[in-house]
Amino acid sequence: MGDETHHHVIVGGSAAGISAALALRRHGFAGRVTVVEAGHELPYERPPLSKALAGGEHAFLHAILPRQAYAEHRITLLPATRALAVDPRRRAVELDDGQTLYADRVLLATGVLPRTLPVPGAELAGVLTLRDVRDARALAARLRAGGPVVVVGGGFIGLEVAAVAREAGLDVTVVETGARPLEGPLGPVLASRVTALHERAGVRLRTGVSVAAFTGTTHVTGVRLTDGRVLPAATVVVGVGVRPDTALAEAAGVLCDDGIVVDRHCHTSVPWILAAGDATNQPHPHLPTRGRIEHWDNAMQQGAVAGAVLAGVLESHTALPYFYSEQYGRTLQMYGRPAPGDEFVPRAEATSAVDSVDPAEADEPEDGGFLGFWTREGVLVAAAGLDRPRELRAARTLIERRVPVDAATLASPTTDLRALARTSAPPGPSVARLRSRPQTRSPHAGGTSGTSLASGKEAP
Ligand SMILES: Cc1cc2nc3c(=O)[nH]c(=O)nc-3n(C[C@H](O)[C@H](O)[C@H](O)COP(=O)(O)OP(=O)(O)OC[C@H]3O[C@@H](n4cnc5c(N)ncnc54)[C@H](O)[C@@H]3O)c2cc1C
Repeated sequence: MGDETHHHVIVGGSAAGISAALALRRHGFAGRVTVVEAGHELPYERPPLSKALAGGEHAFLHAILPRQAYAEHRITLLPATRALAVDPRRRAVELDDGQTLYADRVLLATGVLPRTLPVPGAELAGVLTLRDVRDARALAARLRAGGPVVVVGGGFIGLEVAAVAREAGLDVTVVETGARPLEGPLGPVLASRVTALHERAGVRLRTGVSVAAFTGTTHVTGVRLTDGRVLPAATVVVGVGVRPDTALAEAAGVLCDDGIVVDRHCHTSVPWILAAGDATNQPHPHLPTRGRIEHWDNAMQQGAVAGAVLAGVLESHTALPYFYSEQYGRTLQMYGRPAPGDEFVPRAEATSAVDSVDPAEADEPEDGGFLGFWTREGVLVAAAGLDRPRELRAARTLIERRVPVDAATLASPTTDLRALARTSAPPGPSVARLRSRPQTRSPHAGGTSGTSLASGKEAP
C-alpha cells in the first residue's frame, strides 16, 4: 500500500535520476516518486547515441527501463515536461505545463549541456553537437547524406563519431587543439595507441590547431583552422566538452562551483535538495581533488546513493570511476582516474623477453589490444586498456583494495593480475562499503553484478 503523504521529486530522467528512483523503492520508500524529464522519449541510454549511429534509431535508442517498469515501481514519469524553478520557500517544483509539485525533497539530476564554439558560422546548418536523441537523429541523417565530415575535438564522443562515419565510408578529419586526441584522460602512450586506430582506418588528424570559423552561407561548407587552412565539410560535429546544467540549482540558492556542489551522500548546501550525476561537483575517494565525473556508471552509482539517502539510508558514493568507449569494434575501458605526477606503467606484450621488461619499450601486438597502469606511492590507482576486460577487472580489484604493487610486476606480461587480485588482502571496512553497491547496473558498468537495468545484459 502506498504512502501518499510523502513525495520526492527528481528533476532529470536519465542515468542518475532513474537509478535514484529505483533505489528509493529498493530501500523501501513507500511514498510518491515523480521524475520530471524535459525529453519526449522514455528515458534512454546516452552511450549508444555515438556508437550505433549508422544502425538507425532501433540501434541507438535504448530505453533504460521498459515502460511498464515505471508502473511496477510506482514511479510517476512526466516526460516532455521541464522544471522551470525550484521554489525554496514552498519546497515546490514549478513545471512548464503550469503544475506545481510539492516535495519533501528534490533531487537534481540535470546533467550537462554541450559546449559550443564561439566562432563565426557556429550557427550554420550542419554544425552539430551530440547530447540527446534528437541530436543523434540529426547526425545520423547527415551521415547518410555523405561527407566530408569534420569532427572538432578529439574526445571520446568525437572519436566515436569519427569511427562510425569512417566505417560508413565517409571522408573524416578530426581537429584537436592538443598534441593528440585523448592525451588528457589517457596520457601520451595510450592516447597514441588509440589515435593509431583512427589513422589506420583513414581518419585524418589535424592536431595543435583549433577552429577560426565555419564557412558557408546557410549550410556549412568548410572549417577554417587557426593556421589558415580550410577543410571542406558537409557536416561538422563539435565535441569540445560539456558544462554542468546548474541553472535550476543556482536559482534555488544551491551552492554551485563548476557543478552542483555535493558531499558523498549527494547532499547540497540546501538540506532538502540533493544532486547526482554529471551535474555534480563531488568529493570522491578516488579523485585527487573534488571534481566532476561525466560517465554513465558514475551517474548510475551516485544516483543510487541519492535514492538511498532520500529513502533514509545514509549511503556514500565511493564506487571506483569507470568508463568505456567503443571505436571500430574495439572496447576501451578505464578504471580509476590518474593524477598529474602518477607513474605510468605500460604492460609489455606477451612475446617480450621476461627479463627485459622495460616499460619504455613495452608494446602490444597491434590487434591484441593494450594495457596500461598508473601508480601513486607504490599503489595502483588507475588502469586502462583496449580489449583487455579480464585483466582490467582484476586491476579494478587491486585499485579498490589499494594493493601495493611495483612497476616491474605490472609491466611484466607474465604477471597474472587475476591471481594477484585473488591473493590480495581481503577488503577492509572502506572496501566493504565499495562492495555494497546497488544490484542494478548499467550495461556499461564495470562492477560485479554487471547487468543492465533494462535488459540484464552482461557488462562488456
Ligand atoms: C553521445 C554520448 C555518448 C556517451 N558515451 C559514454 C560512454 O561510452 N561511456 C560512459 O561512461 N559515458 C558516456 N556518456 C556519458 C553518459 O551518458 C553520462 O555520464 C550520463 O548520461 C549522465 O547521466 P545524468 O543522469 O547525470 O545526466 P544526463 O544523461 O545528462 O541527463 C540529464 C537529464 O536531465 C534532463 N533535464 C535537465 N534539466 C531539466 C529540467 N529543468 N527539467 C526537466 N528535465 C531536465 C535532461 O533532459 C536530461 O535528460 C556519453 C554521453 C553522450 C552524450
